[in-house]
Amino acid sequence: MNTGKIYLIGAGPGDVELLTLKAVRVLGQAEVVLLDDLVNRDVLRFAKPDAHIVDVGKRGGRQSTPQASIHELMLEHARAGRIVARLKGGDPFIFGRGGEEMQFLAECGIPCEAVSGVTAGIAAPAAVGIALTHRDHARNITFVTGHTHNGASPDWRALAGVGGTLVIYMGISKLPHIAAELLAAGLSPMLPAAAVQNGTLPQQRSVVSTLAQLPAAVQAQGLGSPAIVIVGEVVGHTPGYIAQLNILEEQL
Ligand code: SAH
Repeated sequence: MNTGKIYLIGAGPGDVELLTLKAVRVLGQAEVVLLDDLVNRDVLRFAKPDAHIVDVGKRGGRQSTPQASIHELMLEHARAGRIVARLKGGDPFIFGRGGEEMQFLAECGIPCEAVSGVTAGIAAPAAVGIALTHRDHARNITFVTGHTHNGASPDWRALAGVGGTLVIYMGISKLPHIAAELLAAGLSPMLPAAAVQNGTLPQQRSVVSTLAQLPAAVQAQGLGSPAIVIVGEVVGHTPGYIAQLNILEEQL
């Protein structure tokens, strides 16, 4: 029996039209589809009608499949000679455990290929008109996670010193702490900042504000996970920024 193959596919931020052509093609060939958290279930329209679909996500209060079981599932199907589409939200290698999975498969001698996807940290800001490296206002972007698997906190004060645009994944629930740390490190309270929940999906919601006021604005609007937080001058050059700030002022 031939060994199968695992494709670690980035399913993009939500809007199925942001899937790559390659993702669609591979999904159409897969006999097994493993769906992660945050993958828009509409992508399944591109799967084979008789594909075996396994939901390993954890939204909606259900238990997620432990990472070790996902590894075992991939191994079992690949050893049975099957083509597996392992779909992850955004890009598989950006805060998505794609690295761990590829490493595990390599150790087991299973062929594995990554198919890049559009990461939420790029697509969600774009969906509200934030140009992350607007030439006059940022020369670098830092992608950082607000939530680490071992509970360690990023060094927000050091990150504040980097300048440019900060793009924070998994940061919305810790936003008051993150904003306080960035302010304590000397960033201006007036520095433009935004949060985008469910970017690129019909239920997308966003708030633009200032670093000092973003936590209160996010709370007032009831924004929650999944969201991307963007901090930097570029946010202030979003079309309509000033008008949106004024509306916010009235609401807070
Ligand atoms: N691999 C994914 C990130 C997984 S971590 C990627 O490349 O996009 C999960 C985090 O991604 C969420 O907590 C949130 O911060 C962000 N995220 C994913 N989809 C999102 C969306 N549609 N809108 C805003 N943030 C999103």
